[in-house]
Amino acid sequence: LSWRAAQDRYDAMSYRRCGTSGLKLPAISLGLWQNFGGDRPLDNARAILRRAFDLGVTHIDLANNYGPPYGAAESTFGQVLASDLGRHRDELIVSTKAGYDMWPGPYGDGGSRKYLLASLDQSLTRMGLNYVDIFYSHRYDPDTPLEETLGALDTAVRSGKALYAGVSNYPAEVLDRAAGILADLGTPLLIDQPVHSLFDRHIEPDIIETAARRGVGLIVFSPLAQGRLTDRYLDGVPAGSRATHSRFLSADQATADDVLRRSRALNEVARAGDRTLAQLALAWVLRRPEITSALIGASSVAQLEANVAALRQPPLSQAELDAVDEFAAP
Ligand code: NDP
Repeated sequence: LSWRAAQDRYDAMSYRRCGTSGLKLPAISLGLWQNFGGDRPLDNARAILRRAFDLGVTHIDLANNYGPPYGAAESTFGQVLASDLGRHRDELIVSTKAGYDMWPGPYGDGGSRKYLLASLDQSLTRMGLNYVDIFYSHRYDPDTPLEETLGALDTAVRSGKALYAGVSNYPAEVLDRAAGILADLGTPLLIDQPVHSLFDRHIEPDIIETAARRGVGLIVFSPLAQGRLTDRYLDGVPAGSRATHSRFLSADQATADDVLRRSRALNEVARAGDRTLAQLALAWVLRRPEITSALIGASSVAQLEANVAALRQPPLSQAELDAVDEFAAP
């Protein structure tokens, strides 16, 4: 039987304006970096994506090299678009990126116009789309003139292959210059995508202030510190968890003494407020109006549901904020 989207899918989600643009994003967005590769069952990927849409999570974030292997997450998403979500294309914000290692040789990495525009064409083919909503420069490449990288984003938008331009992992000073260059080109910078969580506060205050001053939205990735700000590793490393299979999170990183000391203390703060640790971590990043959306990952429908439920809870009290500050990364 074919799938039908829930009628009430817009009833509970909150949508936040992305900077000074006309675009609103869901307070919680879903990223397909992990758990959507060719090594994962399509059924689980499809179930998570269907549920996300039914919960009002209208924004799905990808990049060219999400997998494994590279490109596989876009292919998975393309399959789910074809079978399910595609008929709701105008209700979805799909983003992709280029900037990190993708294919061999000098044109498959970095910030050149050659790489970005070729990669965007490949991404569109894998997803079976005519356009993405947001196309990102995935990282600042100091070996390429900023004007060239951003000029490629401007071309992507002007050619209709992307609706908006974004940057990710840019230092504050480069973000500021990028916003100026794109404004001069007539393609305003929509959004910046930095890492941010209770365990990584580097965007405070410079990147947040720069984005706000430039009218640029912020979507923060890994707000759960890849699972370290959930109950996942509080009692060891469970089978199947990211720390058992991802080269981006080792078991040692997941269970380092300092990490566990902080996450266990934060877990107590969360429980005292009738929240889970993950819900506390999400409420914390979303407490600031400059932050448009928290970009989470999920390996199951249950994780997604529990995280979205954070939006129905009361805002953090001053007492909770004070307690959290004590155990957040310095
Ligand atoms: P999170 O910090 O949200 O970590 C997600 C992981 O945490 C899940 O895979 C799961 O781990 C665990 N988890 C999530 N919810 C729960 C829960 N309720 N209870 C227990 N465990 C939970 O984000 P990600 O690191 O996955 O990054 C999110 C997205 O951000 C990516 O998909 C990508 O789109 C983007 N990103 C962008 C980058 C960039 O350079 N621009 C870099 C990295 C990410 P498990 O798999 O063990 O179940």
